[in-house]
Amino acid sequence: MRVRTLGVGGAFTDRFYHTNYVVEFPGCRLLVDAGTTLRYSLPASGFTVKDINAVALTHFHSDHVGGLEEFSQRCRYLYQYKPTVYAMPDQIPLLAGLFALHGTQPEDYLHVTAVTHSTVIGSTPKENYLLEYYSTQGLHAEVTSNYIIGIRRVDRHNKAVRMIFTGDIGPIEKSVLGRLMADPETIAVFHDCHTGTTATPAHPSLQQITSFYPPELYGKIHLTHYGDNIADYQHKIYELGFNIAVQGEIYKW
Ligand SMILES: [Zn+2]
Repeated sequence: MRVRTLGVGGAFTDRFYHTNYVVEFPGCRLLVDAGTTLRYSLPASGFTVKDINAVALTHFHSDHVGGLEEFSQRCRYLYQYKPTVYAMPDQIPLLAGLFALHGTQPEDYLHVTAVTHSTVIGSTPKENYLLEYYSTQGLHAEVTSNYIIGIRRVDRHNKAVRMIFTGDIGPIEKSVLGRLMADPETIAVFHDCHTGTTATPAHPSLQQITSFYPPELYGKIHLTHYGDNIADYQHKIYELGFNIAVQGEIYKW
């Protein structure tokens, strides 16, 4: 499994691209979130839209879904190509709402595939790859239908590893993240982290992350979705033992 961090910035970044990812495993390149900077971040990482087979979305804020319409139109009009979007049942009406603005339907551009909490989306003779959704309903500002996304690889002997993408989740203490992080299957977590001076209910602060997770788990965490001022925190973050996700970097497991 390879993860490419298309961007690492927050919703209003002037310096980075939005925190979106391309996860690659045999037979699939999955785009996790599609913010408004996607038109720049995809080519900057060497991809065109037709390299993307599938899309999964954490929630419907602009830095996570604002580029989906243009992405879909590029697929259709430039390449006559329909990627799959894996959506939880409560995300499907929201998707329809995006395309209803111009009198079309998501199905005109995308294969909309309803998924459950855990769905096999790829397999080889040796392994299955599962897409997981963990609800963070009520834990992210005013937005409904928001999820933590996981990709779980299970081999023939039922040995599994999982990577996690948090989306936007402020009150981490009330979420499943404590359990997910402690699970030995979870080997890497791309975790949103607010580094601004004013607190936000949408993201956890470095202080909040540091006090919630036990220090022995810090090494699994790649902080992302951070502020443009990340350099001011870098020294402290590394000293604590966290990783900082780097824009455009490839992570392999
Ligand atoms: Zn966001």
